[in-house]
Amino acid sequence: MNCLEARIVKDGVVKEGNVLKVDSFLNHQMDIELLNEMGKEFYARFQNKPINKILTIEASGIAIAYAVALQFHVPVVFAKKSKSINISGDTYVAEVESFTHKNKNTVVVSKQFLSADDHVLIIDDFLANGCALQGLISIVNQAGGTVEGIGIAVEKGFQSGGQIIRNMGYHLESLAIVESMDHTTGKIEFREQA
Ligand code: 5GP
Repeated sequence: MNCLEARIVKDGVVKEGNVLKVDSFLNHQMDIELLNEMGKEFYARFQNKPINKILTIEASGIAIAYAVALQFHVPVVFAKKSKSINISGDTYVAEVESFTHKNKNTVVVSKQFLSADDHVLIIDDFLANGCALQGLISIVNQAGGTVEGIGIAVEKGFQSGGQIIRNMGYHLESLAIVESMDHTTGKIEFREQA
């Protein structure tokens, strides 16, 4: 069991509706030592790729992306949730349905910060059905950039996102893959990873 899995078992809370709460160390209060370890692990898994930019989505992806970017010595760009319509055409835009809030968000990235020259590592905290990732992939594609890989802290392996993204041919690495979780008992099981 790696340190993220151990922390999930210790402090994660399984909620109804297939939601895993990790507010005490990742999504509200943040354990910086743990984030740094996660950054190093993503670096180990993607260091052979020519990554020059990290892309994530606000808010929860930002801290993890920071820890990864510190290892790669590259900038982080985060997709912003936007209420205004893009009239000027100076942003890349994607629609992302929120798994936890069940609403649709328009997310944008300024064309200033992503281009065809970019080799991007996409980072996010959770992978459920894959909507957030598909939005981020679309933004990289709109820029003409290359998705070099995708790093996820917690993949819920019993939901469809991981398979969809891997079937699309992307190199997806998840630090913890939850195989099953039960809100009545609180029991969480992980997929064995090599
Ligand atoms: P997807 O787009 O893959 O369906 O869901 C991923 C997004 O929803 C992530 O950016 C994350 O913020 C949120 N999310 C999905 N499942 C969970 C969960 O079980 N716990 C938490 N805390 N966030 C989740």
